[in-house]
Formats: sequence, C-alpha cells, structure tokens
Amino acid sequence: MKIITRKQAKALGLKRYFTGMPCRHGHISEKYTGCKKCVECNDEWKLQNPEKSKNAATAWRKANREKCCAYSRKWQKAHPDYYRENVQQRQKTNKALYYRKRDTILAEKKIYYIENKSEIRVKQKIRYKKNPQPTIDAASKWQKENPGRVRANRHARKVANGPKYRAYSTAYKKKIKVATPPWLTPEHHVQIEQAYRFAQLKELLTKQPFHVDHIYPIQGKTSCGLHVPWNLRAITAKENMTKHNKLPAEPQSCHQE
Ligand SMILES: [Zn+2]
Repeated sequence: MKIITRKQAKALGLKRYFTGMPCRHGHISEKYTGCKKCVECNDEWKLQNPEKSKNAATAWRKANREKCCAYSRKWQKAHPDYYRENVQQRQKTNKALYYRKRDTILAEKKIYYIENKSEIRVKQKIRYKKNPQPTIDAASKWQKENPGRVRANRHARKVANGPKYRAYSTAYKKKIKVATPPWLTPEHHVQIEQAYRFAQLKELLTKQPFHVDHIYPIQGKTSCGLHVPWNLRAITAKENMTKHNKLPAEPQSCHQE
C-alpha cells in the first residue's frame, strides 16, 4: 500500500489514508480520512456490535438522503448492465423492505394525506375527470379482493350516517330524487341535511332508531309529497313503520312558514 499522509489524502479527496504505522491495537491498516479511525478496528467493532452499526448506518442514510441518492445514481450510471439485469431482484428486495416497514410507511402517508388533503383531492379529481377507467378498475379489483373490508366500511358508514344512510341505501334514493323539486335553494338543501342530522342526534340520545319521515309521503297512493325541508320530521322507526305511507290523520300545514 502506498504511504500517504492524512493531509495529502484530504487534499486528493480520498476517504482513506495509510501511514504504515500500527494503530494502538497493532493493526497495520488504512485509516479513515474523516475520523482517523483504523479500518480494521472499525470492522471489528461492527462485527461485535451489529445492531448498533446497523442503526448508525440507517441514521446516517436518513440524515444524508441526498448524498445516498446521488451515490446510487452515480453507481447506476457506472454499471448500466448490472442495473438492468437485476431489476427483478431489486423489485423483490424493495417489496420485502416495504412489507417490513409497511406500518411506518402507511402512517407517514396518512399524515401527509391529512395535512395536504384539499390539494390531493383536487389533483385526484382532475386525474379522474381526464381518465376515470383506472380508478374504477382499481376500486372494483380492491372490492373483489377485500369483501370483508367492503362489508366493514359499509357498516362504518351506516353507523356514522344513521338515518340518512338508511334513507339513501334503498331504491328509495330514486324516489327521493324525483320528489326533490329543482327550485330548492342551497339553504333548503342544508335544512334537509340538518333534518337527517337531527334524527341522528335523537337516535344517539334516546338509543332507539329514528327515521326521517315525509309528513306527506313521497310514494303514497293518493298523494305525492315532496322531499323538502318542511315535509320532513324525525320520528321513531316504529312510528314510521306503522304509519306506512298513509297521509297524516289531520291535514297538516305543508307550507313553508
Ligand atoms: Zn486497529
């Protein structure tokens, strides 16, 4: 090995230097230019402390991400054939790495999503409008592969939306659409939404199921009530079942006050 001082090595940009002198453990080996440590001593320490050495390396890589990326890019350029030939192997390794750190990665993603939700949603919408098919395919594939999750999500939605979910989960949805006059203002729609929230609140307070009822039924035999705020009220599910699309006994004021 060529003898070179630390100063010269530094000037040349070398990572190691060699003085020919033994270290205090008697190794005649190279030393690191940066920390002056004996390479052999360092290797021994690594062997004796595998966990610590691994953690230190990971921490360094995390702190010097740019450097790592630059290094691997440089390496890829220098070894194009090797790089190309080992694509599959690398994919496998990456996959294994992903599954090992899956929870951390997903948690980080989730935080990122929450912090940037509105921007992400806008981007997603633009992408979907341009080309909806991939999203639809991915969703139906996921649904086929995760029937349990689909059921669980549906249940969660049901719990979260209570009366509204029930009203909108049947063929009833269509009828509601027909019975909703086009002249309703945005405020009216908010009021309708509030009627469902109100029923949900009652449900939570009384611990029994509530329905949002149309005072004048929208699918009655003789009447055709409208899906408008002043035709809505929250009643217990039992009451609603017994009423069953009958008109109220006493004609009620069905006008907006
Ligand atoms: Zn040594």
